[in-house]
Amino acid sequence: MSNSKHQIVVIGGGTGGIMVAAQLLRAKKGLDVAIIEPSEQHGYQPAWTLVGAGLMKKSDTIKPEKKVMPKKATWIKEYVETINPDENEVVLKNGDKITYDYLIAAPGIQINLDGIEGLKETFGKNGVCSNYVDPDYTWEVLQNTKSGVALFTQPATPIKCPGAPQKIMYLSADYFRRNNRTDVQPVFATPGTVIFGTEPFKTELTHYINDVYNIPQRYGYKLVKVDGEKKEAHYERMALPDGRTDYVVNDERNAAGCIGYVWDGQEQYVVEEENNHIDELKDGTHFIIKFDMLHLAPPQSAPSWFQKTKLANPDGPNKGWMAVDEGTLQSRYYPNVFGVGDVTDLPTARTGAAIRKQAPTIVKNLLNVMDGKEADYKGYNGYSSCPLVVSHNRMLLAEFKYGNVRSSDPLLSKFFDLGKASYPMWLMKRYGLPMLYWQAMLKGYQF
Ligand SMILES: Cc1cc2nc3c(=O)[nH]c(=O)nc-3n(C[C@H](O)[C@H](O)[C@H](O)COP(=O)(O)OP(=O)(O)OC[C@H]3O[C@@H](n4cnc5c(N)ncnc54)[C@H](O)[C@@H]3O)c2cc1C
Repeated sequence: MSNSKHQIVVIGGGTGGIMVAAQLLRAKKGLDVAIIEPSEQHGYQPAWTLVGAGLMKKSDTIKPEKKVMPKKATWIKEYVETINPDENEVVLKNGDKITYDYLIAAPGIQINLDGIEGLKETFGKNGVCSNYVDPDYTWEVLQNTKSGVALFTQPATPIKCPGAPQKIMYLSADYFRRNNRTDVQPVFATPGTVIFGTEPFKTELTHYINDVYNIPQRYGYKLVKVDGEKKEAHYERMALPDGRTDYVVNDERNAAGCIGYVWDGQEQYVVEEENNHIDELKDGTHFIIKFDMLHLAPPQSAPSWFQKTKLANPDGPNKGWMAVDEGTLQSRYYPNVFGVGDVTDLPTARTGAAIRKQAPTIVKNLLNVMDGKEADYKGYNGYSSCPLVVSHNRMLLAEFKYGNVRSSDPLLSKFFDLGKASYPMWLMKRYGLPMLYWQAMLKGYQF
């Protein structure tokens, strides 16, 4: 056991930790920055959507952590076990204690496979897959799905990149179509109440899900159980807002057309034809969808150890997530601490794109605090973005800020209609964004 001290300690060498550390070291020479990161590898997670659809290799999305560590930072290769902010101290798994003057928390999000009954037991087999954990297995399942229901779903907890569960659905539907697998019926089931919160992206995605791919949808559907052996996903219905009752969307057309089941007007589907692809049943409070392929985002939370620290919200709807100021990203409880990325309680989508806009705000405020000033630069406006790949050659770049208000890039908007999915945006997703990530964002360049 040993103790050491650093001026600035960063917890996590993922997207947020590396980006903020690199920008700090560019902004001011001579800073003593230590990054605590246990992993030997750094992944570019946004590309895992493409890996799951066979459009990129997983190995092309991973680099050794040492290649992304800023040269002037000290890398402490260990897990953080807890933070004692009253003592300005971080305790590591090996018992070491690191003290700091300033702390940046960026430990990311925790995947909780045991958050849904039966999921842990069946995950990674029986066609139950997730790009969030193992996109190579998604690709394997996708290739092996030749008939039946391909169900795409997500939990009722907050998740990182909330658009990712539907991106893989569009890519899969596109794959089935290009490979003439007309016997596969994709289905989308979400606890959410709309396909997307911001216009004009909502209209464009509605066009894709209904008109282009003809995908039946379930809204207000909370996944409560996965039975891998029986290939069943169990849902409970949540209340929809404004007295809405449209839990089921785009089914009538399918019932009249190719799928062969109808809603009986009350609570059950009645199979009309022999070759039906979807067989939704009701058992007590459970609505059960049978699947051949199930892609899901697992339930997620702030890391368990982090939830117990004094930096986390102790109660309320954001319980466990890091309490930060929405504009300055300073801890709401400790002025020498800042938070970035997925662990924070910011009311916007948790993405790497959001971090790109959060990092400069933290740098400016932290340097102010170091100079004895206030952290009063409210530079972050909730910006986040979601590159919604809707096929193997089309992408819709949805950019928004707090309140789900559209916030498309003014320069890009001059050249492209960003309300529509397009080929140039696809090129940006496949080639441009990965290059910007590795060569600019992680190296501390602001843009
Ligand atoms: C399938 C998928 C698709 C996505 N698509 C997009 C997209 O298209 N666009 C987009 O912008 N974003 C996308 N994202 C989200 C994006 O990758 C994350 O929001 C971003 O990586 C979050 O950065 P972070 O620094 O908060 O967490 P991470 O990048 O996950 O980093 C957290 C780091 O903390 C480390 N850590 C964990 N526990 C400890 C501990 N106890 N002690 C020390 N270190 C620890 C981890 O090893 C990790 O390196 C996607 C994510 C997924 C999974």
